[in-house]
Amino acid sequence: MSRRKKIYEGKAKILYEGPEPGTIVQYFKDDATAFNAQKKDVIEGKGVLNNRLSEYFMTGLNTIGVPTHFIRRLNMREQLVRSCEIIPLEVIVRNFAAGTMAKRLGMEEGTQLPRPIVEYCLKDDKLGDPLVTEEHIAAFGWASQQDMDDILSLALRVNDFMAGVMYGVGIRLVDFKIEIGRVYDGDFQRLVVADEISPDSCRLWDIETGRKLDKDVFRRDLGSLTDAYTEVARRLGLMPKAATAMTKPTLIN
Ligand code: 5GP
Repeated sequence: MSRRKKIYEGKAKILYEGPEPGTIVQYFKDDATAFNAQKKDVIEGKGVLNNRLSEYFMTGLNTIGVPTHFIRRLNMREQLVRSCEIIPLEVIVRNFAAGTMAKRLGMEEGTQLPRPIVEYCLKDDKLGDPLVTEEHIAAFGWASQQDMDDILSLALRVNDFMAGVMYGVGIRLVDFKIEIGRVYDGDFQRLVVADEISPDSCRLWDIETGRKLDKDVFRRDLGSLTDAYTEVARRLGLMPKAATAMTKPTLIN
């Protein structure tokens, strides 16, 4: 492991060169950050849970024909993914008002939206990932019109899939963020869902109680983040039957 070439270290993950050309190993750290890294902590087991949960969602997406960068999970903390050129946008889909949208528009958190709303933020930590419009994206050449059509279609398909999976286990998908990458197959480029899909990048509320089962638990000091993520994994059948929210996360392969 130590001899592998590190390509990039982000807030929650490290990317290493993969074993074959065109592949990357994505390592999930236990680090949690919020508010553009002004709040930081190490949450034991978070990386293991996110690796497994992201594998679960990405595999499901691949299975229903939504292309992702995911190839396979390698171990508790690492997964093999296709190397891709990340489009410098955070693509956010919202079903209910929460977070920055609720604040920006003065809406009560939890208000149902008339339809899924897709927002784009520029991936730039120094600027705090500002909201941008399609006009900015086109004018500055961050993505083409064809890319934007494909991104919108991918985002809505991910939303339908994730909302359905979550509904099946009694969880409301309030909103989420994805990142999109370009992969090249010979002369052709296509877009794939990249990065990760996990409770770090979604808002997940228990349908019955409204309990938050996502990173807002950390952002807003609402209790144990590991307990919340373990609960999501447990409901999805990814935890051994005996495991409770109080035990250290051990995942079923
Ligand atoms: P908001 O704009 O309300 O802060 O976030 C909307 C959704 O996108 C939430 O589910 C949030 O977790 C996710 N999101 C927004 N920005 C980021 C980010 O920089 N990192 C991660 N992991 N998720 C983000």
